[in-house]
Amino acid sequence: MNIILLGPPGSGKGTQGALLAERSRASRVSTGDLLRTAVRDATPLGKEAKSYMDRGLLVPDGVVLGLIEDVLNSPRAKSGIIMDGFPRTTAQAEEVDRLLDARKMQIDNVLNFEVPDDELVRRMQGRAAKEGRTDDTPAAFQQRLAVYREQTAPLIAYYRMRGTLVTVPAVGAVEEIAKRVRKAVGA
Ligand code: ADP
Repeated sequence: MNIILLGPPGSGKGTQGALLAERSRASRVSTGDLLRTAVRDATPLGKEAKSYMDRGLLVPDGVVLGLIEDVLNSPRAKSGIIMDGFPRTTAQAEEVDRLLDARKMQIDNVLNFEVPDDELVRRMQGRAAKEGRTDDTPAAFQQRLAVYREQTAPLIAYYRMRGTLVTVPAVGAVEEIAKRVRKAVGA
């Protein structure tokens, strides 16, 4: 089972991805988490990524594509990947297709998490107080929303055309949303 979680920042992809991973053999992989680890460890990749992340911009595809390749090459990919935070651009989506095709793997479901903007902003404020992420400032968050609309939202049409897209209303209790997710993927 390979699943893509698509949705704006704060739409709950991380929370729902983790719950779904507990219920299935698939592992959740978040490029945001991998990048934050690289930043913390001050690796060359992390050093390059940091300034983009802090400003709410996407890390350039050239930097992220290698990371995505590593994820899909890793042994755990064989039992399925829940992709949280990637692909995020058309170039990344094409790369995921290419890597999966070459391994005779496929995307089973793309879940499109829908949450109104005002609710996203509220959630970001709550998370900022708890986690202190450097990109959870009001300005960086607005930038992340704009980047989502411009660069990532076009993937909704990309996957809808293939019939793999399911829209999940992602407002309400976490467990209610988790039920919708399980129903959408048949888990
Ligand atoms: P959120 O979904 O709340 O924005 P993420 O943890 O997924 O949080 O991403 C945080 C930041 O990490 C993004 O704003 C971006 O700078 C970077 N990032 C994560 N995944 C990708 C990706 N696939 N391509 C480019 N940049 C990414």
